Amino acid sequence: MAKKEFFSKKSLVFLENYLNTASPTGFEKEGQKVWMEYIKPYVDEIKTDTYGTCYAIINPKAAYKVVIEAHSDEISWFINYISDDGLLYVIRNGGSDHMIAPSKRVNIHTKKGVLKGVFGWPAIHTRTAGKETQPTIENIWIDCGATTKKEVEEMGIHVGCVVTYPDEFMFLNEKYFVCRALDNRIGGFMIAEVARLLQENKNSLDFGLYITNSVQEEIGLRGAEMIANTIKPNVAIVTDVTHDTTTPMIDKKKEGEQKCGSGPVISYAPAVQNNLRELIINVAEENKLPFQRAACSRFTGTDTDAFAYSNGGVASALISLPLRYMHTTVEMVHKDDVENVIKLIYQTLKTLKNNQDFGYFE
Ligand SMILES: [Zn+2]
Repeated sequence: MAKKEFFSKKSLVFLENYLNTASPTGFEKEGQKVWMEYIKPYVDEIKTDTYGTCYAIINPKAAYKVVIEAHSDEISWFINYISDDGLLYVIRNGGSDHMIAPSKRVNIHTKKGVLKGVFGWPAIHTRTAGKETQPTIENIWIDCGATTKKEVEEMGIHVGCVVTYPDEFMFLNEKYFVCRALDNRIGGFMIAEVARLLQENKNSLDFGLYITNSVQEEIGLRGAEMIANTIKPNVAIVTDVTHDTTTPMIDKKKEGEQKCGSGPVISYAPAVQNNLRELIINVAEENKLPFQRAACSRFTGTDTDAFAYSNGGVASALISLPLRYMHTTVEMVHKDDVENVIKLIYQTLKTLKNNQDFGYFE
């Protein structure tokens, strides 16, 4: 008998639509609208903050508050300088990768709508073998088909316009979701699916659940910093992507060993509250969910840090999804891992108790 598909048609349509909606850091509004529309039937209330973070609440009146969180923004570029011959030079908005830019098509977001462009590069014939220039943030440029600065301006393109890649969703070998911005739109998808499971299985939680889709993670966890202080949660379970380190040219001694298809990655880090992490590990073991471990030095580099170090210390943990080719346009995640992260968060919420105290001392 075939295994029942975990993801419904409706869920996958949402995932594809959500991924295909550009949601660059600082400009997440369109993606957030798609996310709120999907999660609405599964929650009691939805709120937003001044910078665009959205949080959907189950049991808004409860005093004890648990956050499950992902970030909604994607890396992009800002147009920083327009040359006299109409070429556009960029700076990063998040950790955009100069190495992969040449030959990529781009979407330039203007008030008049999305305009097209391409990252150009000198032809192989015109380069000197053995002395080839590498792409850097200083030497890459976008060609929008204009030949003068005036023409660029007339098109409605100006300094400060945001640039994203048009690459859309693909399902690879019936195993991998592939897209730009899976980091971390897939997180927003997973926390929304937890809300769906809670409703479908008629689970009533005796604490408040705040399903939070934060903005501005890619430039330093800023949306999470803001919303942690607004919600003032007791517990925060964050989900983000982490590197699959088993593809070529990654040093496992430095980056650890995590692999797509081997399950959610549970982090060890000072910001991760030990008792909360152990609870999650017990839940994984009891429910026979696969998981991997990773260690972080100083920072997790995720919104976990923002929650942990807010409000005098919030019990926080990080459940990561292994991903190949982070910050490229072909990010890949294994659908079984996506399913298992959702199940792990869901089962953890079912295990958590109202007013649970995670303190280290009796
Ligand atoms: Zn990222």
